[in-house]
Amino acid sequence: MRILVTGAAGFIGSHYVRGLLAGEYPGWESAHVTALDKLTYAGNRANLPATHERLTFVRGDVCDPVLLRDLLPGHDAVVHFAAESHVDRSLAGAGAGEFFRTNVMGTQTLLDAVLHSGVERVVHVSTDEVYGSIEQGSWTEKWPLEPNTPYAASKAGSDLVARAYWRTHGLDLSVTRCSNNYGPYQHPEKVIPLFVTNLLEGRGVPLYGDGRNVREWLHVADHCRAIHLVLNGGQPGEIYNIGGGNEYTNRDLTLKLLELTGAGEDMIHQVPDRKAHDLRYSIDESKIRAELGYAPQVDFEQGLAETVAWYRDNPDWWKAIAHGPGREL
Ligand code: NAD
Repeated sequence: MRILVTGAAGFIGSHYVRGLLAGEYPGWESAHVTALDKLTYAGNRANLPATHERLTFVRGDVCDPVLLRDLLPGHDAVVHFAAESHVDRSLAGAGAGEFFRTNVMGTQTLLDAVLHSGVERVVHVSTDEVYGSIEQGSWTEKWPLEPNTPYAASKAGSDLVARAYWRTHGLDLSVTRCSNNYGPYQHPEKVIPLFVTNLLEGRGVPLYGDGRNVREWLHVADHCRAIHLVLNGGQPGEIYNIGGGNEYTNRDLTLKLLELTGAGEDMIHQVPDRKAHDLRYSIDESKIRAELGYAPQVDFEQGLAETVAWYRDNPDWWKAIAHGPGREL
């Protein structure tokens, strides 16, 4: 078995690849993994083993049709993580262009190449942000797409490309839409690692607005387990929401991080709210639970404490990134 993973040097893609190489995912314990990544500012080769007998790393762009047509034949499946993923960067004027290039055109280029490759199964990894914001209740997969940021719009566009390639060409493809992830190896521009690394360095944390925005948190290990269930058992053309049920306001999350790092509330620096800041995300994940037997395994309190401990124990990993290029946002 051979599997190609795009965005494999990023936060979630690298977790999935490390799990595949460790034999953690049923049915694919001995699979050969091709890890494709452009190594943008967000990709880090050090997130993957330098060498492994079942790993081939390829530096390349999902927008490159020639590369993809050469690379894809011989693979059984593709799991597509590659994306521009940081909402704040998509809000910054011209920065949005790269989101549409990679997320929409990259998905179209990849799926077009898949059609000519003999690859039999694709999972497209998307996000709950495509639904917009919800004040009460939770989104099912039937909810209309009402993305509010360029990031979310580009992911919604990629979901529609994926749907069209299933409907038009009969591609065996499923889409996942997950809530916010946390865990080790997440780029220090994202809220949990940003706050943790700031606090570990004795610096304050920038809390948007009044901090009442609500997010649902899921450990990256649970997300990857769910993606793998979809790879193995998901139906063509179907969408699967993935959530964790852990809803916290940004303020409450910040208070937990202060406690875990031994810092006081004086470290909170309130900053003007983000443009188009969605108030609340909430996922109805009953479909993947009922159809594929999904259930998150990582307790949020424990997972968060372990994540903080990981950043405390691995300063070399994040200091190189946090103080390096690409840290301007
Ligand atoms: P990330 O930014 O950490 O990783 C993205 C990876 O894609 C990086 O390694 C980057 O180098 C690579 N990449 C970017 N452009 C590329 C291109 N043109 N060609 C090839 N590789 C390219 O992101 P992440 O948090 O790991 O997210 C992975 C996927 O999961 C994304 O599709 C994202 O939308 C989705 N998702 C993320 C979350 C979350 O909370 N992080 C939640 C739900 C869904």
